[in-house]
Amino acid sequence: MPNRELILLALDQSPTLSLMERALRAAGHDVTVVRHQAALENALAESSPSLLLLGETFDGTAGIELGRLQLERFPTLPILLFTEKETLPTIRSALRAGLSGVLTAPLKTDDILQAVDRALKRASYLGDWLRREVRRTTASLESRTQLSESERGRLEAIIGGIEDGVIVLDAAENLVLINRAGREIFGLTGADVIGRPLEAVIANAELQALLTSPTGRATRLFELNLEDGRVFKAQHTPIPQIGSAITLHDITEIKRLEKMKGDFVHTVAHDLRSPLTAVLGYADLVEHAGNLNENQHEFVNRIQTSVKSITGLVNELLEFGRLESGSDTRREDVHLDGVMKDSLALFEPLVAQKQLKMNVDAPDGLPTVRANPVRMRQVMDNLISNAIKFTPEGGEIRLCLHFKDHQLVLEVTDSGPGIPLEDQAHIFERFYRARNVDGTLGSGLGLTIVKSIADSYNGRVWVESAEGRGSSFFVALPALELEAG
Ligand code: ADP
Repeated sequence: MPNRELILLALDQSPTLSLMERALRAAGHDVTVVRHQAALENALAESSPSLLLLGETFDGTAGIELGRLQLERFPTLPILLFTEKETLPTIRSALRAGLSGVLTAPLKTDDILQAVDRALKRASYLGDWLRREVRRTTASLESRTQLSESERGRLEAIIGGIEDGVIVLDAAENLVLINRAGREIFGLTGADVIGRPLEAVIANAELQALLTSPTGRATRLFELNLEDGRVFKAQHTPIPQIGSAITLHDITEIKRLEKMKGDFVHTVAHDLRSPLTAVLGYADLVEHAGNLNENQHEFVNRIQTSVKSITGLVNELLEFGRLESGSDTRREDVHLDGVMKDSLALFEPLVAQKQLKMNVDAPDGLPTVRANPVRMRQVMDNLISNAIKFTPEGGEIRLCLHFKDHQLVLEVTDSGPGIPLEDQAHIFERFYRARNVDGTLGSGLGLTIVKSIADSYNGRVWVESAEGRGSSFFVALPALELEAG
């Protein structure tokens, strides 16, 4: 007796239906007869029949159309069509729809059984072939992702020769590979570190903090400070199907030079400030020392304005030197919307004077950023003052705060002159002033300070602008997500 197969009969009531049912049962098959389309759907989904026999029309719908629809869902299901009258167009459309064959009246028991057996056999070959193909493709994919011993040796030799530290981790953060430079950085000896959890091998809180924070799929850059004073630029990159890789580049010397430069700028700026204060003080005194004529009064005024402008520059230099020397360690949970409000209050007179329209969009309940509040205020002041400075009278400024991808994003948009494309890549560089400044005063240090602050909190700054169409400045900072509820 052949294997018991479940055959589904979807034909309108007719003598042929009972003949088929009897013949198939007699040949040892299980048969389910369905009377309408909903029952057909159910039977297909729940009982996984081996074959479907469809009437030329069933429950008011053309059998060929029904068959075509079912093949979209069950592409390997053999389907036979029963027609009262065999015509060439019917056979053609049945085959075009992907049906396995056509049975035509008048039917004999043998015709039915032979057609069913043929269709079942073809389906079983197809099933076997599919299973074999899936197995073959899976095996070939696996062999492609697994390295042979010699390939692995070559790869290790290449990675071993790289001067930067390279650490490869699996998805559970166990060490898969660490090169010679990586071992030297952390003073590891012996080969027994491979396969062990990273935290058990390298006790470095900064490295751990980075790995446990959500990475998403992006590469992340951060600074790793070792206790002995060495500093590394570390890059953490997720690797699909393996885990992730960390590369470490020694920047101790660059950091030392940066600090020297910061200290130097700080010293010079500091030494310049005292004589400037004296100049300003004496210029003020001249006015009080006796009556000045109109010219003298005008000259003193000019001295005062210039000295104030130089003092502003020196103060920015001092600030910049302080930032570059990396000595700022104050960290608090800062609400940027509060900082924005304070900063806006400071600029209110200027906004009113230029008749600017100010829009603020900061939803309640935004997360905080872990930072020095004074630095956050500097970021806010610099961006808002630039927007006010560059926007002509009657223009519009929009301040917006929102939370996205674990980051708090500040956006300052103005309806000013916009920034030429060629300048956009440079405006965050120190002392760079774009060709759009057109008489506006400034040092070219404000945005450098903003970027320096954002960098020190692993944040980002960028600009979107087009000449004649205003500018949008963005600052994104890692934010502390609030507990839900
Ligand atoms: P400063 O404003 O003192 O010149 P910044 O570092 O703040 O220096 O800005 C650098 C340059 O970027 C500016 O000189 C100006 O060319 C351009 N810039 C900055 N903000 C804006 C803005 N809101 N609209 C147009 N240009 C701007």
